[in-house]
Amino acid sequence: MKVLLVIADGLGDRPAKSLGGRTPLEAANTGNLDLLAREGMVGFIDPIRPGIIPGSDTSHLNYLGYNPEKYYTGRGPFEAMGTGLKLRGGDVAFRANFATVDERGIVVDRRAGRIRERTAELAAPLNMKIEDVDIMFREGTEHRAALVLRGPGINTEVTDNDPHSDNLPPREIKALDRSGEKTARILREFYSRSLDILRNHPVNRERREKGLREANAILFRGGGVVPVLPDFNEKYRIKGGYVAAVALVSGICRLAGLNDFTPPGVTGSTDTNVQAKIKAALDALKQVDFVVVNIKGTDIAGHDGDAKAKKDFIEKIDDALESVLPQRDDLVFCFTGDHSTPASVKEHTSDPVPILLRFPGCRRDGINHLDEITCRNGSLRLKGENLMDVLLSSANLSQKYGA
Ligand code: ZN
Ligand code: ZN
Repeated sequence: MKVLLVIADGLGDRPAKSLGGRTPLEAANTGNLDLLAREGMVGFIDPIRPGIIPGSDTSHLNYLGYNPEKYYTGRGPFEAMGTGLKLRGGDVAFRANFATVDERGIVVDRRAGRIRERTAELAAPLNMKIEDVDIMFREGTEHRAALVLRGPGINTEVTDNDPHSDNLPPREIKALDRSGEKTARILREFYSRSLDILRNHPVNRERREKGLREANAILFRGGGVVPVLPDFNEKYRIKGGYVAAVALVSGICRLAGLNDFTPPGVTGSTDTNVQAKIKAALDALKQVDFVVVNIKGTDIAGHDGDAKAKKDFIEKIDDALESVLPQRDDLVFCFTGDHSTPASVKEHTSDPVPILLRFPGCRRDGINHLDEITCRNGSLRLKGENLMDVLLSSANLSQKYGA
């Protein structure tokens, strides 16, 4: 028996005015999910704990069996992963900004005029080696970026250089104790080299001519160590894979040792090819026992406050799930979200998330539609940390506890 876990990011929602008081899942026309619900069980999952608002990172860690209280090492490492940098356990990552400093070195704009254009060009030459340490620098959205140090003797025992408000000089980069001296030295050298590189960069020359704020300095803060995750395949004694276009999620899956089956050309947006993702996952299950698929569009529609778009995207997922049906008798199939992103809130909330579990011969709870209202009559009440155990035991892939 194989396990397919499909996570529609930010799936859970609340009643929406634009949908006549229904939630996107409630309003969506989902023939395939209806069938799977009728043949299986539905209910709710708390991705972390009741009342805790999950991030996609903490929630995916928890679902895969990595307690975020132990393995979530802060926004630095996880946002860096989100930029697409391929990180390894032990790397030290900071959140960074492109900023504007004046000729005296004073930070006049911590966000470099909220620069949007050509930040990839600015970031490229900031990748370098200092002593025996590799420096990786990658642009994020707008003025945001990630700064990662990889090498021996690097840690987080240093102060940030970000003054946290404008019209101040960057803070001095200092070691917090002796163990941080090398990191502080490398970061000071990086800062000074980056000033030279950025001052003469063609993008900044152009911004100077146009009278725009130059992105001529790098501020960094919130350093954290990328966690070393115990290997998923050893932990569960199975082979696992993933399909995910969003860098944050694929970064976590890669750190866990899951194999990448993401097909080329898929995006982490509402225009993504959901069919291709589901097909890639079903193909992957010929080689591995477990595949997790992340589909981001639902979360994006939620953040956009667009309940109608979320409903439409759910229908697109449902269409793609048609290809699961012929294979469902060799499959533990689970469909849920990593948290709720209600369109009325435009942010993640702690609302429990609808979940559907169907496998051959499973109990049925007589519910024939998956949504936030009907799920309260279903039989499942799960916590994120238990999801892997539930899936693997449903697939007869786990051991008996006791005699
Ligand atoms: Zn998410
Ligand atoms: Zn989100």
